[in-house]
Amino acid sequence: MSVFSYRWPIEKQRKEVEKRLTAYIREYIYPYHPHYRRLFKENGIDPASIRTYRDVQQIPFTYLHDIVTHPREFILQPKLGPGSEDYGTEPLNKKYIAHAMRRKNSILKPRKTRYLGKLSPEEKEIMCIKNEWQPIHLHLGGSYEGSEPAESYYTYYDIWEVLPKIVASIAITGIGREWRTMNLMTAAPHVTFFQPILTKLMCGNLIFDTCGPDVVPAEAQLELVSGYELDCVISSPTYIDYWLNLALRMKKDGRLDNLRSLKLILLGAEDLTPSMRQHIHDRLQKLGASPRVLRVYGSTQIKAGFYECDEGSGIHLNPEYYYWEIVDPKTKEPVGEGEQGVLVFSHIGWRGSTFLRCCTGDLIHGGMTWEKCSSCGLTMPIIHPPISRLEI
Ligand SMILES: [Zn+2]
Repeated sequence: MSVFSYRWPIEKQRKEVEKRLTAYIREYIYPYHPHYRRLFKENGIDPASIRTYRDVQQIPFTYLHDIVTHPREFILQPKLGPGSEDYGTEPLNKKYIAHAMRRKNSILKPRKTRYLGKLSPEEKEIMCIKNEWQPIHLHLGGSYEGSEPAESYYTYYDIWEVLPKIVASIAITGIGREWRTMNLMTAAPHVTFFQPILTKLMCGNLIFDTCGPDVVPAEAQLELVSGYELDCVISSPTYIDYWLNLALRMKKDGRLDNLRSLKLILLGAEDLTPSMRQHIHDRLQKLGASPRVLRVYGSTQIKAGFYECDEGSGIHLNPEYYYWEIVDPKTKEPVGEGEQGVLVFSHIGWRGSTFLRCCTGDLIHGGMTWEKCSSCGLTMPIIHPPISRLEI
């Protein structure tokens, strides 16, 4: 895909996203996505006619129930011939492989390694296809009462072509490359734990992953932050509340000095209310620290997390690899800028598990604005908390 800029004017961004989204639906989703291919046929939707946002809005919503019931049918998968499962999708268009093989520095080209001998042209082509289409990483999360957790798969292409451009948005939080960060999230196949790991590998930030208090106990985490004067921690509101109360008890007992070095706290996995943010600031102040406390928003189905650039700035969503809508929970019609409604997203350009018009079930009380942020100067769709759960 061509270069996209978060400094473009809003209208230019809107036009580019519309072009990318509709082309993606026509050229990738309809031919290779088992669920949407069937859904389009059942609803008489002609993929060739999808050219505008209005056309996209005729596609029925996808709910968690659909994903949990048929997780494998949400994975983009061309028909690969004898031996592979037949989901009624089309065989892979050879022009995509030829294009990837020709393109200089294509992420899809098999890497030369000293472990594999010289590859034949056929072997190179197979590796190229696997790099793009074969799922290699899985997150679990999002379920309703009595259901299995939803599955969300990433391919090599997702990890190395798409994700680096998304996780790099951690830069808007003001985090420094030289800062030392501790990831307090519990180790689990979930985006909240893996995004910090992928961020450090892709962006070069220094992050120590504790894997949670069962691996590195909370007291040891606090001693490390204080002793090594770490700059940033990544956690959830509930855990950081427990963690700071423990820190206050340790300080009272003379077992902890202070947490003065902390400059930034990133909190995800749950909503962060203004009163909770104030409560966290009050505790930090007693520990000699005055970091910015920013929230992170993401989910298993979205496949990534997004940040505030400043306290109360709203969460900056990515317009390059997603199309975001806010809809009225009752009428399911899109609402106006800044109006309350449920967040709905469509993937653009991803492989692996992909979703169109997927209802997050998250009610965004302050709605969404696509605007130039007055704090960071970037133009992005911004959602304005509070956020509450609403099953629709
Ligand atoms: Zn901003």
